[in-house]
Amino acid sequence: MALKRTWMKELRSRYGNRLQENVAMSNYTTWRAGGLVDVMLPVHSGDDLTEAATLLWQMGTPFKVLGSGSNILVSDKGWSGVILLNRAHNIKIDSASDEPTVWAETGANLGTVSRQVGLRGLSGMEWASTIPGTVGGAVYGNAGAHGGNMAGSLLMAEILHRTEGRSEWPLEKLGYQYRSSIFKREAQPALILAAQIRLQHSTPEAVKEKMAENSARRRASQPTGSCAGSVFKNPEGDYAGRLIEAAGLKGLMRDGVQISPIHANFFLNEEDAPAAKIWELITLARKAVAEHSGVKLELEIELLGEFDRSEW
Ligand SMILES: Cc1cc2nc3c(=O)[nH]c(=O)nc-3n(C[C@H](O)[C@H](O)[C@H](O)COP(=O)(O)OP(=O)(O)OC[C@H]3O[C@@H](n4cnc5c(N)ncnc54)[C@H](O)[C@@H]3O)c2cc1C
Repeated sequence: MALKRTWMKELRSRYGNRLQENVAMSNYTTWRAGGLVDVMLPVHSGDDLTEAATLLWQMGTPFKVLGSGSNILVSDKGWSGVILLNRAHNIKIDSASDEPTVWAETGANLGTVSRQVGLRGLSGMEWASTIPGTVGGAVYGNAGAHGGNMAGSLLMAEILHRTEGRSEWPLEKLGYQYRSSIFKREAQPALILAAQIRLQHSTPEAVKEKMAENSARRRASQPTGSCAGSVFKNPEGDYAGRLIEAAGLKGLMRDGVQISPIHANFFLNEEDAPAAKIWELITLARKAVAEHSGVKLELEIELLGEFDRSEW
């Protein structure tokens, strides 16, 4: 279903040729799959994001903020709404204080922010240097790796709420759980504008060494290619990858999508497969694990648009 003509008229008059129409989401997701969205609007600052979201809320137009698209599977049928492509990437580093911090707009790349603070001899984001998303995606999903995560690093997030406006949310308000937040669990009429992250004084050499160790560990244990990282959350006390492997599916290739032979929780789009084929393999793996181990795996990735959940 296309967006209402009145919405389109308002958006076109407000944003002119900044507005992109009928955009293929396969170009904006790391899985390289997904159909058309009606409208995409790149936003380049927190104010830009605030203005666009406020207008869309006023008009009642469905919208979604997109970072790097590295944790999302978009339906081949696309999605009817506006994608706010978050490219707001200012960062401010306070390295002079005894308790250093970095403040970053949420379109900033998490790895870039972590390397920038590392170059100033500030420790605390080494865990984040290998995660390929934005700060916003990481705050939203409590991203984590190598023993660290957003819940352990965040001091506060600047939130734009539909009715409450702009305010600073302390860590506790984000309701963090493993790879989850209040944003991920309950659709919030709100978005994340910026984040402030706690750091510690160290040296550039020590931070660089830790990041190099983390990258080496990742290169040894995870595949490269078109994917969205871990598809499923690890169930309590176990690993989704181990369970998929135990169900005999590690390395399985079907319709251009492969369960990685290196890490069975990574599903690789090897041959420009449509999202439906990725989803079929995800569904098959979940079913096989339930039959083999009795565990019902939960998705770590997010879905946008229509997917067949009849076998879910
Ligand atoms: C190769 C690879 C390795 C990965 N390794 C890891 C890993 O080690 N650890 C880990 O945790 N994840 C990992 N991931 C998954 C992914 O990179 C993270 O989840 C990342 O934080 C997602 O950020 P993003 O910008 O790509 O989010 P997107 O995929 O663009 O969006 C994800 C969700 O966040 C929401 N969102 C994004 N920004 C905002 C905002 N400003 N306000 C409100 N909502 C917002 C979106 O609407 C969407 O619902 C990996 C992915 C890949 C491809």
